Amino acid sequence: MPIRQLPGHLINQIAAGEVVERPASVAKELVENSLDAGAQSIVIDIMAGGSKLLRVRDDGCGIPQDELALALSRHATSKITSLEDLEAVASLGFRGEALPSIGSVARLTLTSRTADAETAWSVSADNGRLSEPKPAAHPLGTTIEVEDLFYNTPARRKFLRTERTEFAHIDKWIRRLALARPDVAFTVSHNRRTVLSLPAAHSEEDELQRIGKIVGDSFASQAVFLSREADGIAIRGWLGLPTFNRSQPDLQHWFINGRSIGDKTLSHAARHAYRDVLFHGRYPAYVLYLSMDPASIDANAHPAKHEVRFRDGRRVHGIVSQSLEQVLAGTRPGGHEQSPA
Ligand code: ADP
Ligand code: MG
Repeated sequence: MPIRQLPGHLINQIAAGEVVERPASVAKELVENSLDAGAQSIVIDIMAGGSKLLRVRDDGCGIPQDELALALSRHATSKITSLEDLEAVASLGFRGEALPSIGSVARLTLTSRTADAETAWSVSADNGRLSEPKPAAHPLGTTIEVEDLFYNTPARRKFLRTERTEFAHIDKWIRRLALARPDVAFTVSHNRRTVLSLPAAHSEEDELQRIGKIVGDSFASQAVFLSREADGIAIRGWLGLPTFNRSQPDLQHWFINGRSIGDKTLSHAARHAYRDVLFHGRYPAYVLYLSMDPASIDANAHPAKHEVRFRDGRRVHGIVSQSLEQVLAGTRPGGHEQSPA
């Protein structure tokens, strides 16, 4: 065959293979966009495990009418403009790939209103065709509706699991994102039944209560608060008491600058800190938030962005394990929290 340039719609569908693995990836991308848009409240409605409908409504900044088509085109983003921006990126998104990818493998409707617009506007994407914007009714913010995921890519639709399994994946991601941003209210319904309702937390007490709703009250009632800062790295959050240990590493949440992260350096640092207080084969539980200079991490390591690369992993490891150890020392019977070195 001769070499040919692929048509745009097919390029988007190929990219969707990476970005849109299953309904949960759609939920994650849409909610991240809402968070990047400064939403204070996010409402997520799901039908049939997300394969029939995934709708995310927010009260964020909205998208101006003349940018609606751009929002759905490839490599178009409002979040970075240069390599310098990329190196210190603070938003959850920046690739400009999610919406065009989703729009190429589902029926997508985008309705949005900005603060200075007289009305909302709506566009839809179906099999690579974008409709003209139409006026619509919507308060300030954005609603994105994704219907019939993979309807036009039957090979991928076949890989969808049961409604229950797909919903469980969505639920896991939403809980992670809700943990990441305790200041944002989340409401989730599945098949018209409310399954999660989290008001925004305005105090440490609210926050712990909300964490209890997300990961379980037994963690919340057996966790100690931690807040430390060393060498430009701030760590705060809750450490499960050694008595609250798990047979699996399934309640270990890390967030860096508001982004949920799975990272070996961090989980090793925590294991190290708990080494003398947990039996072999048991795992600690924690919900921990790190803040550091965005330039000291590389968030561009992987398209799903669940991984980061630290510019100086050893330093991060040292600070994290020491901070945790000091707090854990204070929880031992007769123990005293060591003062920061
Ligand atoms: P990225 O998030 O990487 O920029 P997306 O394809 O997810 O790429 O979104 C494209 C653009 O559409 C974003 O840069 C943003 O300007 C706009 N956008 C998407 N979702 C929302 C939303 N919920 N509220 C406001 N703007 C949005
Ligand atoms: Mg995005």
